[in-house]
Amino acid sequence: MINSPFIYDLDQSELEKLLTELGEPSYRANQIWQGLYKQYWNTPDEFTTLPKSLREQLDKILRFEPLQPIKYLDSSDGQTRKTLFKLHDNRLIEAVLMNYDPSTHKGQGRRTLCISSQAGCAMGCVFCATGQMGFMRNLTSGEIVAQVMYYARMLDAQGESVTNIVLMGMGEPFHNYGNTMAAIDRLNDSDGYNFGARRFTISTVGLVSKIRKFADEKRQINLAISLHAAEDAERSAIMPINKKYNISKLLEACRYYVDQTSRRITFEWALIAGVNDTEEVARKLAARLKGLMCHVNAIPLNPTEGYQGQATNRQSAARFKETLEQAGIPCTIRMRRGIDIQAGCGQLAGFVDVLE
Ligand code: SAH
Ligand code: SF4
Repeated sequence: MINSPFIYDLDQSELEKLLTELGEPSYRANQIWQGLYKQYWNTPDEFTTLPKSLREQLDKILRFEPLQPIKYLDSSDGQTRKTLFKLHDNRLIEAVLMNYDPSTHKGQGRRTLCISSQAGCAMGCVFCATGQMGFMRNLTSGEIVAQVMYYARMLDAQGESVTNIVLMGMGEPFHNYGNTMAAIDRLNDSDGYNFGARRFTISTVGLVSKIRKFADEKRQINLAISLHAAEDAERSAIMPINKKYNISKLLEACRYYVDQTSRRITFEWALIAGVNDTEEVARKLAARLKGLMCHVNAIPLNPTEGYQGQATNRQSAARFKETLEQAGIPCTIRMRRGIDIQAGCGQLAGFVDVLE
């Protein structure tokens, strides 16, 4: 039915309430929960644990699948799959699965899923394809959950499962704080999908008030901060949010987070040739991060249509890492994954006109 709620938007108690209203015993809610989050069913017909009459009733009052996959792109090495989804109001979002080979990852194969929290983004970072398209709307918690269930279902058919979830797709998760946390709680539920909090990573542009709130909640979720510059003038030029929360305020909130949670924080750094990949910048960054329990994740910029910056080269990336490490700040240079499928943040939805 148009305008009826999507089933993934309900938490377990809301589902119980709904079934009680239908005059059903409370164990029916648990059967549905198991069907959704352990069997990955997403159509009423699949819920064979329920009487047919109840299935028909549910089909009338709820909608089941909020996402319509409209495009897949697999990288040429077969290790990255990007899916573009259409939402019920025709908005587009994307989610990317990255397989990490056991031979290069300490013997452990990882399947990391990168999901979206908003359609578009209001933060306007100039180098980002999602930022360049502007803000459409927040995703509901169910739309966030459904991205995970979609891939969980696909992998399950191959006898595999998602091992890590990162909120690094389209949107700013802390600008949609409530729905993002509700989605994580639903995925974390031990009666359902049971995905451990420590296997989630939230990446934020640096919304200071939300970083503090998140710290106070003392969750086990990993936190990554998109920093990309060591001085305010440089950061404000590429990330407008810096005019509201400057680097000192941001790093103060990061220190608060580490104090509250005793967890290490990650800083993300897109290496842009000649802009933020020099030894001088690395030294400035190391000075600012001194004494903070952290790690820098640097990745060569994924060039986008709306920004003239280019990716750093191998030597500069290696020198950047070395300079940071000599100053006592651990740094990893990440490979760019799925570069041939525009797997960078927001790039597929932005390029959909070209693809179709
Ligand atoms: N809004 C959140 C999460 C989504 S973006 C955030 O900004 O942190 C995920 C990461 O991709 C961020 O670190 C972001 O800065 C980075 N990113 C965006 N566009 C990029 C590009 N063109 N090249 C490399 N990294 C990019
Ligand atoms: Fe939004 Fe993150 Fe892109 Fe910035 S980098 S525009 S916060 S999605």
